[in-house]
Amino acid sequence: MTSLEQGIPAIELHDVFKVYKEGPIETVALRGVSLKVATGENVALCGPSGCGKSTLLNLVAGLTLPTAGRIRVAGVEIGGQTEAERAALRRETVGLVFQSDNLFPRLTVLENVQLPARLAGRSNARQLAATALESVDVGSLGSRYPAQLSGGERQRVAIAAAIVLLPPVLLADEVTGELDSRTGQVVLDLLSRLNRERGLTIFAVTHNLTAAASADRIVNMRDGAIRELEMAE
Ligand code: ADP
Repeated sequence: MTSLEQGIPAIELHDVFKVYKEGPIETVALRGVSLKVATGENVALCGPSGCGKSTLLNLVAGLTLPTAGRIRVAGVEIGGQTEAERAALRRETVGLVFQSDNLFPRLTVLENVQLPARLAGRSNARQLAATALESVDVGSLGSRYPAQLSGGERQRVAIAAAIVLLPPVLLADEVTGELDSRTGQVVLDLLSRLNRERGLTIFAVTHNLTAAASADRIVNMRDGAIRELEMAE
């Protein structure tokens, strides 16, 4: 890992706070989080429900903005940008995969995976999608609809859609949460392979101990903060 650490970190958070305001009620979801994920690292973010994991992931994805603090993804500071620039960052720099696959039911597998590439204006979207499906071992399923796939296949297709533009970072939120343990392991093995073979940086929220064990490093959160053990790294 030492050689990887010499480049620009894939993810950098410096003293990040996130406060949700709903009328008079304020919830401090993140209270001064600092964290670095090196390029090419595979990191699991663990902690009890409500400790701020999804909030942290959404901030790194540029889906929401921090109340205070700085966030950089692949060296690009998130914050000073317009919504359109953050949308571009989400498409080109981070891939996102969630617990539920978020595929469009009326589009075929190939059309679903092409969509991010079409939105990014790529004329070779179809070819990019076919290559992405091959890389997650479902190249033969392009003409099916999501309802015609197993849960594990749907997650593979969701991963293909997330990496179709070859982003350097993949953010994963409980991707094995709805899968049985054997299918979950297949998806975890796939993510480990993409990490090892392509140097894809993976930052994955999980409750699952097996999923956490397949990471290079586990970051533990509690009450909106990273526990001290990891802050020393
Ligand atoms: P986790 O992913 O670890 O379960 P979350 O990041 O979802 O935790 O939530 C952290 C805290 O922020 C919780 O107290 C939760 O209720 C609160 N929270 C999350 N999202 C919102 C929101 N959109 N509005 C208000 N409070 C929220």
